[in-house]
Amino acid sequence: MAFAFDNSFHADMEGFYAPAEAAKPSAPRLLAFNQALADRLGLAIAGVGDDELASILSGRELPAGANPLAFAYAGHQFGHFSSQLGDGRALLLGEIVAPDGARFDVQLKGSGPTAFSRNGDGKAAIGPVLREFLVSEAMAAMGVPTTRALAAVATGDRVQRERAHPGAVLTRVASSHIRVGTFQFFAAHFGADHVVQLSDYSIRRHFPDLIETANPSLALLDRVIGLQCELITRWLGVGFVHGVMNTDNVAISGETIDYGPCAFIDRFSVNAVFSSIDANGRYAYGRQPQILHWNMARFAEALLPAIHRTAPADVDAAKALVDAIPGRFRALWQAQVRQKIGLVGAAANADELIDSLFDELEKHAVDFTSFFRALAMLLRGEGEMLERLLPTPDAMAPWIAAWWGMMADGGIAPLDRADAMDAVNPIYIPRNHMVEAALDAAEAGDLGPWTELLDVVRHPYVVRPGLERFAEPAPSGAEPYKTFCGT
Ligand code: AMP
Ligand code: MG
Repeated sequence: MAFAFDNSFHADMEGFYAPAEAAKPSAPRLLAFNQALADRLGLAIAGVGDDELASILSGRELPAGANPLAFAYAGHQFGHFSSQLGDGRALLLGEIVAPDGARFDVQLKGSGPTAFSRNGDGKAAIGPVLREFLVSEAMAAMGVPTTRALAAVATGDRVQRERAHPGAVLTRVASSHIRVGTFQFFAAHFGADHVVQLSDYSIRRHFPDLIETANPSLALLDRVIGLQCELITRWLGVGFVHGVMNTDNVAISGETIDYGPCAFIDRFSVNAVFSSIDANGRYAYGRQPQILHWNMARFAEALLPAIHRTAPADVDAAKALVDAIPGRFRALWQAQVRQKIGLVGAAANADELIDSLFDELEKHAVDFTSFFRALAMLLRGEGEMLERLLPTPDAMAPWIAAWWGMMADGGIAPLDRADAMDAVNPIYIPRNHMVEAALDAAEAGDLGPWTELLDVVRHPYVVRPGLERFAEPAPSGAEPYKTFCGT
């Protein structure tokens, strides 16, 4: 199997990484392979058997042209700065350039210890690997920027956590693995020269249109803030709670990265927290925009030496960019909610309707995902779906009446409006109870439910007969859902 590697980070950024070597798994076995992604990347795998794929994508066999390395990074974890993190359970095999010219990192996650493993074993258990595969594919299918999963391979070895689990390796594909924490690491330990070098590399790789700007590092800050505002808008729109929005888990590409204890909201609650380690709710659903703001302030700090070097006065401009984040986010969020509830082209001032919606959903514990589909059904003259979601038929009557009143605006036919809503509101998401059941079965050796769920969430928008149970919320009275890092 040949990857056409073109390893720019390895070649251009010596000193920003540590060479790494994968641990050799005893009996690699392919669990899942993402053929659509392989095609998108232009991988030459015709005729390559599962055993060879498993061998390469578990780190047993090093493909020609790979320059395996672990990235150095730091990061604020739950608000506290750790100056030394880095890839402790992952290594970059190399970069490939897809047929359309887009460049991607190909990384093995769970492939054994690196120079940055500290006390960790560098391994991953099958549960977290299949969870990341599933959730990142669901996000991609919903059009949310994300890293992708190319393969999951069982290693044949056990990984010790609170108990022993089957080990696995995830092959992750990302437009890069440069994180806010990468900038923080070089700002903290090395200073302006290194920050400028990393900033220049990032701009060449991701945002070449910024090369000619007066102060490229300032332009980089502006661009990354914009991408993060868009990303968190999309998360909130599908009810996603990342769970560990530490600065080392923020990719400057604007992709969702490092799926750990993430989960989707069932019945709406603005304070929803799923992660067992987030006792104070720092990364709760509704706090994600504030944390985005906080994380971008840390990014600005790390970039300051580079911004200052080019133009000392631009430090004020950087501060202004950070201060403008809440307004920038709010504009994107309002626009997205308007789309979700079918207000496109309608009602100039719907701010109040939008804000009160979330109070209503919370008050009546409405299933977040289904609600927006139910609104579209209402436009089609079918009210049963909404009725089934509400505790009493008239629970949201005043809000629905206000919303209905705006549907006359804009000259769009109700059925067209309903179709446009369905095109942005998923019906199938990785619901927590389904994910958990699929992972339990997979750990016990049955990949059937996981494979079925993966197929369901890969087609999130179009109703398919027979899949009703995938669109149902967890049975009421179910235990509050808890997720564990466990990776
Ligand atoms: P994350 O949970 O992805 O935010 O990881 C935080 C840090 O812990 C990163 O530097 C990881 O590389 C490191 N880490 C997490 N799990 C392990 C592990 N099993 N072995 C070594 N390092 C790990
Ligand atoms: Mg991480």
